[in-house]
Amino acid sequence: MRVSSLLLLAACTAPRPIPEPIVNAGPPHSQVRNLILFIGDGMGPQQVGFLDLYARRAPGSPFASGAPAMMRLAEQGMSGFSATDPGRELVVDSACSATQLALGLPSLSEVIGLDVHGEPQPTILQRAEAKGLWTGLVSDTRLTHATPASFAAHQPHRSMEDEIAVQMLASGAEVLLSGGLRHFAPQGGADLSERYPIPYPTTATRRDELDLLKRAEEQGYQLAFDRQSLREKAQPGQKLLGLFASSGMTDAITVREKLAATDEPTLREMTIAALDVLESSPEGFFLMVEGGQIDWAAHANDTGWMLHELLRLDAAVDAAMTWAADRDDTLIVVTADHETGGFGVSYSMFELPEPVELPGAGFADRPYQPSYDFGKPERLDAIANQRRPLFALLDEHDGGTAEALVALTTTDTAFPLTLTEAQRVLSSRDNPHHRPEGPQSRLPQTMPNIQELEAYYPAGERARTSLLARTIAHRQGVTWATGTHTHTPVPVLVWGPEPAMRRLTGWRHHAELGARMQEILLDD
Ligand code: MG
Ligand code: ZN
Repeated sequence: MRVSSLLLLAACTAPRPIPEPIVNAGPPHSQVRNLILFIGDGMGPQQVGFLDLYARRAPGSPFASGAPAMMRLAEQGMSGFSATDPGRELVVDSACSATQLALGLPSLSEVIGLDVHGEPQPTILQRAEAKGLWTGLVSDTRLTHATPASFAAHQPHRSMEDEIAVQMLASGAEVLLSGGLRHFAPQGGADLSERYPIPYPTTATRRDELDLLKRAEEQGYQLAFDRQSLREKAQPGQKLLGLFASSGMTDAITVREKLAATDEPTLREMTIAALDVLESSPEGFFLMVEGGQIDWAAHANDTGWMLHELLRLDAAVDAAMTWAADRDDTLIVVTADHETGGFGVSYSMFELPEPVELPGAGFADRPYQPSYDFGKPERLDAIANQRRPLFALLDEHDGGTAEALVALTTTDTAFPLTLTEAQRVLSSRDNPHHRPEGPQSRLPQTMPNIQELEAYYPAGERARTSLLARTIAHRQGVTWATGTHTHTPVPVLVWGPEPAMRRLTGWRHHAELGARMQEILLDD
């Protein structure tokens, strides 16, 4: 029975003319067999709202004939908010946040799969495996990165990716699709390209001789390294390990520009492949899909890049909605681990509006002329037309002249820098956060010349991307408050059986949301 007809039944209060057997719905939430969890890393309400604004208001919007999947999902389902704060502090990182979702318990900053006391606790994926469900993890970053790792590993720090790779293989997950080959190949990468058809350059960074690719094959996994083999090997019930990049997968702008020329599957294609494997599970499945580079773009304060990451995740959500459209046993949850960047579309003094004559009686005696630049829809197209992420632009610039930077911003963005701006973007200052020892010793002694709130831009030289992005922000009509995360409660968009939707919406905390997802899928 379709969900819509279930809703219809529930709404129907008139007495039935013919007695019928009552539909046995079982206990209130027993209908959820499959749970598909989307995590937009760094996707706060501002980011989701930006996708909606772009879709509805950009003159060149690709959504002329239908809303983004996330908006359709919320429209047909329900939505709520969830607070994300960690057990001991106030602002969460991706490891702690995904751990709280995976365990259904408060956790600690930068830890993987541990509770607030440092104790390993079973994740929803591990509990699902123990109950005979099939499971999968998909990410457009790399498999051992914090978000997917938190569902299948237990480590005191997110940086322990070699150890995480070992535990992920031991988790029993049927589908593992992302980047991160470097943590699965033995030190030095011994004859990797002779043994496997790997179409991308690989640097094996493991600090030991463990060959996890061989181990995966011994465990019955098929291996895929490109789009074609992913398509061929994604068969019902066939365990599948897909590693499509040495480290992180390609950014969404480059993927869009070079789609036909690349061997890398898209996030949507990986989602479809995962569903191809999992859909024949006799007991149901749990699948987590991460849009992980929304966060990377937002750390860089790169609005154009972020928009394309949101579009990439939305295309994957669309695939899941299409897959689940005729089912009443599947719950789709779209949420985030936190907001990144303190992002906003904002009004300013940048281009003050000219007076306009309006026909309405209210303007019979004066023109319409707001006092501020409240934003122009054409800017959304200009933002979307960015030709590559700003970090890639700065990589190409490679410490060149201010004139060269002006030229690059002219060809690759609709917001060219002036020469003075370019000179400022290229200038540096003493880094007040550098220390001779400890974690801060990794920071360089100088940092990009961010003048205010520089403590929120801890990324060393990489923060130059933020400096460039913030220099053009007023022309884009946007603002960025930080190069890190904020406490902003994140949206929870759900679609599926109504009792389950009710349990996940309202105002939650991620530990509670995680616990309720486990109850709905595994306990009821
Ligand atoms: Mg992540
Ligand atoms: Zn982040």
